[in-house]
Amino acid sequence: MPPTNPPPYRAVAIDIGGTKIRVAVVSRDGSVSHRHVITTNPETGIEDGAERLAALIRKVLGEAGMPAVAGVGVATAGPLNPATGIYNHPPNLMAWHGKTMKPLLERELALPVWIGHDATLAAFAETQTGPHTGAKNLIYVTISTGVGGGIIANGEMVTGMTGGAGEVGHIAVRPGALRCNVGCDGCFEGNACGPAIARMAASRLTSSNETFLLDMAGGDPLKITSRMVMQAAAAGDRLSVGVIDDVIENIGIGLGSLLNALEPEALVIGGGVAEGLKAQFGKIKEATLRHSLPRYRDRGGVPVHVTSHGDDASLKGAAFLAFSRAASEWRQRPAHTP
Ligand SMILES: [Zn+2]
Repeated sequence: MPPTNPPPYRAVAIDIGGTKIRVAVVSRDGSVSHRHVITTNPETGIEDGAERLAALIRKVLGEAGMPAVAGVGVATAGPLNPATGIYNHPPNLMAWHGKTMKPLLERELALPVWIGHDATLAAFAETQTGPHTGAKNLIYVTISTGVGGGIIANGEMVTGMTGGAGEVGHIAVRPGALRCNVGCDGCFEGNACGPAIARMAASRLTSSNETFLLDMAGGDPLKITSRMVMQAAAAGDRLSVGVIDDVIENIGIGLGSLLNALEPEALVIGGGVAEGLKAQFGKIKEATLRHSLPRYRDRGGVPVHVTSHGDDASLKGAAFLAFSRAASEWRQRPAHTP
């Protein structure tokens, strides 16, 4: 039976990553409440994950006073088919390949469940709440342990043929330099993500370097982290400044290519590395402008912004997926219903 009343004002939002699952209630104005976190433990199987998640959702709804909700929106690490929720070799959820939690969650909760790719839903959230509300063309790029992305083009989420679109981390920015875990030569992820920053710094250490980075890592180059490199660079460590300058250039090449290809109203960046480089945001915009088409010089700069949603972009996007699907199902209800 299609719903006869307009969809409610709140939704259950889920954000599934390789290590943790976040659950919250999100309102249509984007406000988030009743947050909870559980570990993902993908190796115990998707059925176990779905059962633990359903129990947590029941608890969250109870704490929220059992509000009417539009449904459950799920943002998850992928790749996966958004129509079925079936995972397709997800690198951070390996044991879930070929499976989906959608039917089990719907049965357990008696609520509709909609699933999408986390970065695509982060992009969608940026068009639904916050400073870029109403944007019809928007790219979200997360620069973190990896580099991922989501694309909204002409008002639609770009999913690709099987749900694999948006892998902006694997566009080439520096052929001949570092490779990512997938093995592509000189890609954005392999030359700008957190682990890449640490590897770049470690590879430049020589006995004659004057750097306090190695002291920060307790003398072990393998213990250098991207956070240490960013901190050392901020304190003027020459080796670290060199690494961060190169990373900013790599980010600029990647973001410039995306602007050139898609001409969005906004390109929003998020993730731990983007947050860590916030003080260098002006340099990131300059680097992006250098690698963009002349139209951006004519317009006085590139439309690159840091997300205003912090870690919550995907979580909010999950809720907005539920709102939009519930609304379209409501609009499509048979004409004779009241
Ligand atoms: Zn790659």
